[in-house]
Amino acid sequence: MNTTMKFGTKVIHAGLVPDTATGAIMTPIYQTSTYVQEGIGEHKGYQYSRTGNPTRSALEANLAALENGKYGACFGSGLAAIDCVIKMLNPGDEVISTNDLYGGSYRLFTTIFAKYGIVFHFVDMMDVKHIEAAVTSNTRLIWVETPTNPMMNIIDIEAVAAIAQKANAMLGVDNTFATPYLQNPLDLGADIVMHSATKYLGGHSDVVMGALVCKDPLLANEMYRIQNSSGAITAPMDSFLVLRGIKTLHLRMQRHCENGEKIARWLQNHPKVDKVYWPGFESHTNHLVAKIQMRGFGGMISFNLKGNDLDDAKKIVSNTHLFALAESLGGVESLIGHPATMTHGSIPKEIREQSGIVDSLIRLSVGVEDAEDLIADLQMAFDA
Ligand SMILES: *Cc1c(COP(=O)(O)O)cnc(C)c1O
Repeated sequence: MNTTMKFGTKVIHAGLVPDTATGAIMTPIYQTSTYVQEGIGEHKGYQYSRTGNPTRSALEANLAALENGKYGACFGSGLAAIDCVIKMLNPGDEVISTNDLYGGSYRLFTTIFAKYGIVFHFVDMMDVKHIEAAVTSNTRLIWVETPTNPMMNIIDIEAVAAIAQKANAMLGVDNTFATPYLQNPLDLGADIVMHSATKYLGGHSDVVMGALVCKDPLLANEMYRIQNSSGAITAPMDSFLVLRGIKTLHLRMQRHCENGEKIARWLQNHPKVDKVYWPGFESHTNHLVAKIQMRGFGGMISFNLKGNDLDDAKKIVSNTHLFALAESLGGVESLIGHPATMTHGSIPKEIREQSGIVDSLIRLSVGVEDAEDLIADLQMAFDA
């Protein structure tokens, strides 16, 4: 494969070949569990669909190319992909992660893996000195998410990679919010990159899937060994849907970024809005880092209201018509959410408020509709 292809060409061609049996240009949905062997040990590369399936393989190769890696692996959900990474560790090993981690990852670490003797430290990674201070001789993994949810904090991947290398630890980056269109963690020194393909990669809110990409063959062996042994694979139909979604990733992300910027700036000038969290603002704490490691600022925005009143926030989120009140993000349609009662409802009030998740905080996943209509929708909800 031509590795010098540009992004917009890769999304459409990387890893994909016309079907060898029929010439079908679209990768068929190989809805099969097993493959007929010509003789003992004689097969065409596929023996059983937990281990490998041609539709999934095409997607895995495509994703590896998009992240400038060599090996891709797809899982039944984003959390199943993270589960695979943590299963590379042993009891006693330590993980350093960010203190405003995706809630599901936090739950996986603290309620599932902690009881198997893996030790997790959660630090404020906006200042990488906090990571250095948490490193011990048992540190095996540093797990980063940037931009973070819902505060849009930015973590300097290159700086964390230097710390990981010195500590002889692996660096994993959850790249769900940025997507490979905006950010490539492997190029910045990460060892493994993870996606909830449920979000922007799928892009149409019709599938739940996770993915990992890495470059190192030894790490890839571990990844595939765990994928096959634990069995948290994704299905052929879902692989097809994400392959189809990815073909327009660059076009969608361009529009997500344009709409995101228009709405962030409109919100910033709105008399009822207190703060707007969007990494494109020069006033954002780590704006310079975002400018260096990202190629755009994305379509995720959070904001809070003057007076910080819960009822005001509830009124807004329940009075939009185009912005649908729902969890998740990254689809073509715009979504609105209220972190304090929805995605972050299980976190005690004092703790969530320390990280900025106040009662009036509202999160937007800005879709690819016309920005004028989206702004009119928000204006109507503010006036309600
Ligand atoms: C949604 C999400 C996950 C979990 O992915 P699922 O596909 O829902 O399992 C992990 N990290 C981030 C940043 C997410 O947004």
